[in-house]
Amino acid sequence: MTETIRTGGCQCGAVRFRIHGALGRVSICHCRMCQKQFGSFFGAFVAVPNDGVEWIREEPSYFQSSVNIARGFCQRCGTPMTFRQPDGLEITIGAFDDRSDLAPTIQINHAARLPWVETIFQAEVHDNSDYYKRQESIISFQHPDEETANWPEHGLKL
Ligand SMILES: [Zn+2]
Repeated sequence: MTETIRTGGCQCGAVRFRIHGALGRVSICHCRMCQKQFGSFFGAFVAVPNDGVEWIREEPSYFQSSVNIARGFCQRCGTPMTFRQPDGLEITIGAFDDRSDLAPTIQINHAARLPWVETIFQAEVHDNSDYYKRQESIISFQHPDEETANWPEHGLKL
């Protein structure tokens, strides 16, 4: 049987990972620490096998957010990468190259959710459907969502 390897990394590409083995729980967490880590409404994580994470190039840097929990990020570009506790590691959903099957199936710390968070998708939709077409005409310095042999391109210094 062929091993499935999931890949991903930070925005600049300095921190990349390969996950060997099956992924675990896919969740969002409403706690204040996850809001701060992401600079957003909630955290979004996938549990990964304890011995199945291979870091490529650099490893995340860590902020110890409480006695048992540390939160990883790329020290070069700031991308939130991990949630680490003594018995396990979770990686941010948005860091995965392919996120299409990583729909959260459980909400953590639901009582701490922002009072308006369940209404955000009722907001008016701004029509910028030509956005990606316009993106093709500019030069992006973001790492592509795939493994690359010769990153960084464009002369970025890592
Ligand atoms: Zn980075």
